[in-house]
Order: sequence, then C-alpha cells, then structure tokens
Amino acid sequence: MLITDSNKIETYYQALLDRKQSFVGIFFVGVKTTSIFCIATCRARKPKLKNVEFYTSFKEALDNGYRPCKICKPTENANQAPEQVEKAILLVKEHPKDKITDFQLREKGISPEVVRRWFKNSYGMTFQAYQRMYRINNAFQELKHGKNATHTAFDSGYESLSGFNYTFKKLVGKSPKNSKDKNIILINRLTTPLGPMFVCATDTGVCLLEFVDRQKLETEFKDLQKLLNATIILGENVHIKQAKKEIKEYFEGERKVFDLKLETPGTDFQNSVWNCLNGIAYGKTQTYQQQAEKIGNPKAVRAVASANGCNRIAIIIPCHRVIGKNGKMTGYSGGIERKKWLIEHERNNGSK
Ligand SMILES: [Zn+2]
Repeated sequence: MLITDSNKIETYYQALLDRKQSFVGIFFVGVKTTSIFCIATCRARKPKLKNVEFYTSFKEALDNGYRPCKICKPTENANQAPEQVEKAILLVKEHPKDKITDFQLREKGISPEVVRRWFKNSYGMTFQAYQRMYRINNAFQELKHGKNATHTAFDSGYESLSGFNYTFKKLVGKSPKNSKDKNIILINRLTTPLGPMFVCATDTGVCLLEFVDRQKLETEFKDLQKLLNATIILGENVHIKQAKKEIKEYFEGERKVFDLKLETPGTDFQNSVWNCLNGIAYGKTQTYQQQAEKIGNPKAVRAVASANGCNRIAIIIPCHRVIGKNGKMTGYSGGIERKKWLIEHERNNGSK
C-alpha cells in the first residue's frame, strides 16, 4: 500500500532520517529522483521529503518502478532472508538480463523450494515475479535515461535507430535486425486504483495496456516487437495521452465506452474473438461458451479462452467481462482479484 496518511508519512520520514532499526520492513521508501527504494536504516544520503513515497511492501515499490538500493539492499535486509535466499537475490542482481532457473539455483547449492516459500510467505510474490519486475524496471530505467537520444532518433527520421541500443534489448536479448525498416512502439506508465500499468502505442493506436506485474508481459513485449517489426522506446504520443485520460475516467466511473484507436496484430481468429469481446457491454458478463457461439464456432470454447488470454489491451478490450459457467470467476492475466474488482466497479456504475 502507498502511504497517504500525512501523520504516518511524517513518522516514517523521521524514522528514515534517524535510521531506526525498528522500522525496517515496516516501510519501503521510494526515492522519486533516483527510482531507487530503501529501508529505514539506509546509510545513503537522505532524500528530501518531497521526493519520497512510502510503501508497505517491497512488491509495491517494485510494481511502481523502483529498483532495490545497492547500499541498504532492501530485498535482502528487510526480512532477514535466509542465506540461501540472499544468494538467490544476489544472483538476480549479478545477472539482471537472465532468468534464473531452478537448475541454476541448485547448481549454487540453493534450494528452489526454500526460495519459493520465502518469497511467497514474506512478500506474497513468486521468485519469478521478483526477477521479472527487476528486469523490467531495469529496462524501463534505461529507456528513461536514453530519453534524449530518443528525441535525436525522432529528429533524424528513425534512420539512425541502429545506433540506439538502449531499447528493450535487455528484455528481448536481441538488437533490432533491419533497423532501417523498424517501426516505433512508444511505452509509458500510468497509475490506477488497481496498481500501475504499462501502455504502449504506435502511430496507429494503442497496442498494449497491462498491469506491470502481468505474468506474460515480457512475452507480449517480444511478440509486439516481432509482429509490428518495431522497437519499444520510452515516449508519449496522442494515443498514449488519450489512453491515460480515458482510463482515468473509466476508474472514476465516468466512462463506459472507449474511443481510443487500437492496433491489435494477431491471427484472424484472435481478432474475431477480440472483436466479440468489444461487443460485451459495460457492466455485463458473458461465458466462454456464449462467446464461442457468437463467433459461429460453438465448439471452440478452449480456443476462445486462449485468445482471450492473449489480449494485450486489458480493460479496453474487456476480457474481464468473460466468466466461466455458472458465473464462476476464471483466470485473469491481471489476477482474479482485479477481475472481480472490475466487474463490481462496472456493476456499481452501470446504472448511472
Ligand atoms: Zn538504500
């Protein structure tokens, strides 16, 4: 949780200045100017009050784009991680580009089960999720720092993109091939009551809107870059600005239909399923079976479900409005709790 209570903020900030051991693990402080987060006892120079925000868990600090401080090592020290877990976290830090597998952990004498259990119990997240956030935050920060170069790229008419290696290379592991013909996907971040999201857009329209902790996010970035022969860089265009505005209105209960332009590269089947999703009205739900019947393929329930799962534009293409038989809540890429919240939100605002 982001702390908004001003008394608490005052107390926490004083604890940060005093390096109070008793507040370790109670709060995680994000420093906006550096995008780093710390625990109370950090020895680094203390940031100004106006530049900090406090979270109650490190998952939230990660979700909001902060990276663990190298001095106070919040992910290791906040909860007295056992030695094996500390080693695993160190591995992530030393290999920020790689996915650390169970095999690699075992090779280092670390039990994957111990690591998994510790992350789950201490922070309610998986070790994989921790690694993913670490990688994505690193890549996003790199994009941020490359911002000036990005402008140069635009000024020079995209031609010199091959020289701009600050792309999502860290995530995709490859540099762009035919950089001359490369398109651009802009990426930006927005906040919602359900947590921060990434939004991506091309010149044509919005091509991605996902919660930052969505499991298949890296795959989606890869797929998008491939499908659109494009490179992801940090930026904002009219579509992203419009998306931010419309999403805000949606969460305020003021918007029921989106006017955004979209770009949804995919198979014909996927696009027919996504189109069908757009036909489910605000505040209403439908089953996978109904959806399959609607596209004239009543037997393709599983394929429909899978195409729903491949939707990259959460909320706007409302895959959260599809539920299982007998109203059962079924899987949602952003998590079941968010799905429930969205359905509830739309029911409450539907009659307005
Ligand atoms: Zn620190």
